[in-house]
Amino acid sequence: MFKKILVANRGEIALRIQRACRELGIKAVMVYSEADREAKYVKLAEEAVCIGPAASNLSYLNMPAIISAAEVTDAEAIHPGYGFLSENADFAERVEKSGFQFIGPTPESIRIMGDKVSAKQAMIKAGVPCVPGSEGELPDDPVQIRRTAKSIGYPVIIKAAGGGGGRGMRVVHTEAALINAVQMTKAEAGAAFSNPAVYMEKYLQNPRHIEIQILADKHRNAVYLGERDCSMQRRHQKVLEEAPAPGIPRKLIDKIGERCVAACKKINYRGAGTFEFLYENGEFYFIEMNTRVQVEHPVTEWVTGIDIVKTQIMVAAGEKLPFTQRQIAIKGHAIECRVNAEDPFKFTPSPGRITTWHAPGGPGIRVDSHVYNNYFVPPNYDSMIGKIIAHGDTREQAMARMQTALSETVVEGISTNIPLHREILRDSKFVAGGTNIHYLEEWLRHRKI
Ligand code: ADP
Repeated sequence: MFKKILVANRGEIALRIQRACRELGIKAVMVYSEADREAKYVKLAEEAVCIGPAASNLSYLNMPAIISAAEVTDAEAIHPGYGFLSENADFAERVEKSGFQFIGPTPESIRIMGDKVSAKQAMIKAGVPCVPGSEGELPDDPVQIRRTAKSIGYPVIIKAAGGGGGRGMRVVHTEAALINAVQMTKAEAGAAFSNPAVYMEKYLQNPRHIEIQILADKHRNAVYLGERDCSMQRRHQKVLEEAPAPGIPRKLIDKIGERCVAACKKINYRGAGTFEFLYENGEFYFIEMNTRVQVEHPVTEWVTGIDIVKTQIMVAAGEKLPFTQRQIAIKGHAIECRVNAEDPFKFTPSPGRITTWHAPGGPGIRVDSHVYNNYFVPPNYDSMIGKIIAHGDTREQAMARMQTALSETVVEGISTNIPLHREILRDSKFVAGGTNIHYLEEWLRHRKI
């Protein structure tokens, strides 16, 4: 096992990894930007290294600074968390070339899965069902583009091969709007992801977002840890997640889970990963794979009792998965609310000093957050400041516990989206379960303020 790991991230996930390291008896080296100097997980770290100014591109995205921090502290491995460099194949490669273990899949796996076109092709080969769409990247020829759209059938969605974070997508309803939409998405993709390649998919009208968590080791063992329902989205960004997905028969989940495991073995995948699917009319359609730990991993940890972050570290160190598929069972229900520093009505970011932070507690409540009284939320990063997770024997109990937790939570000094979560938890359609990916946006359009 490693003796020392460098955590190349910030905020709640940096703290989450630090905690996993403590449990495993591993020293965690924390890195921080000038904006995160005061963070408690930095102050409480055995070792911490400043890697640059507040701007991400000069700190958390600064590969040479991170690698030299690992060198000077004698770390053996680097955990990238999520976001930032976590899905950057060049970074994974540089980490390994510098003699450190990258806690994640091989650079090659990241490269294939990071390009959504090659990811889909790999999945088709591995027998994972995909959304019907163009065979690979769209050509420049408008005649061919129109022909592809016609054969798929409108509406279609144009997606950037290198896209992420819900950006680089455009829905097209008519042929008249097609070519312009392709050109605009290409231009945006080139600017945002340095890759102008786009592809086309059938735009599914009322799907749910269901994803399968997998874990694989370096000895060709792989398992799936059930599913998560992440259909509560705003602007293609997840707001609330739960496990298991209400109303989907276990048999269907097992079938798709087994496909994902087979695909992992086929592509020689290792580490934690998530296969994201759209689910409509009883069918799963693969959209992308995330080759890292996800924000919403705690709901799966709670219903399976498996520590995903610890397992990531163990398999990176070469250990075998300590459980088999047959030992994995889903117990109860878990819901996660992402707490964002933002206006709960206009969704504009609300950074600044938190004058009061009172976290909830009690049976079935977990809070993953790095914030505390008098913590300053820097304006430079993602607005998520933590996650509240509730577990219960049943979905009803998990919802009731979440409602209590949200009513106990006090955040003063900045705005958060907690009022939005309170409203969602009271919404009759959410309570019934099984809403689709458009539900929240539609609900927001008719929301009474
Ligand atoms: P990103 O990497 O930016 O998260 P994804 O491919 O995972 O992009 O898609 C994000 C979200 O966009 C999905 O959860 C879904 O809400 C929507 N979406 C993507 N592809 C389609 C599609 N073919 N039909 C309908 N909605 C889609």
